Amino acid sequence: MSTIFSKIIAKEIPSQMVFQDDRVTAFKDINPSAPVHILIVPNKEIPTIDDVTPEDEAVLGHMLIVAKQIAREQGIAENGYRLIINCRSDGGQEVYHLHMHLLGGRRLGPMLAQKD
Ligand code: AMP
Repeated sequence: MSTIFSKIIAKEIPSQMVFQDDRVTAFKDINPSAPVHILIVPNKEIPTIDDVTPEDEAVLGHMLIVAKQIAREQGIAENGYRLIINCRSDGGQEVYHLHMHLLGGRRLGPMLAQKD
């Protein structure tokens, strides 16, 4: 099922897009958790990282290359950044169109907020 991210990719609704090609779109998160918070999204509708297949291998690799490129453009590559993919409910996924968060611009602290 399509999500709001498909509308952003198709430019049917506005976003602060920072990159787009035939495979991947990247835009600023509407509710940023860090000074730089960008979502990198495959143009193909894949609900979660658990739904990828071997044919998605190239686009998954491309997402990482695009993330690296955007991190440089945003000026956070030298100090470092974090890439996160949330999967389904325990992973905290809210939008069921696969996406990778690129976060940086400050020290991000421990990887998880709390332990059970
Ligand atoms: P996740 O919890 O991993 O599914 O992350 C979904 C992310 O999408 C959240 O960080 C939201 O702030 C972000 N988000 C939701 N709607 C939009 C939108 N229209 N434009 C940009 N980011 C959005």
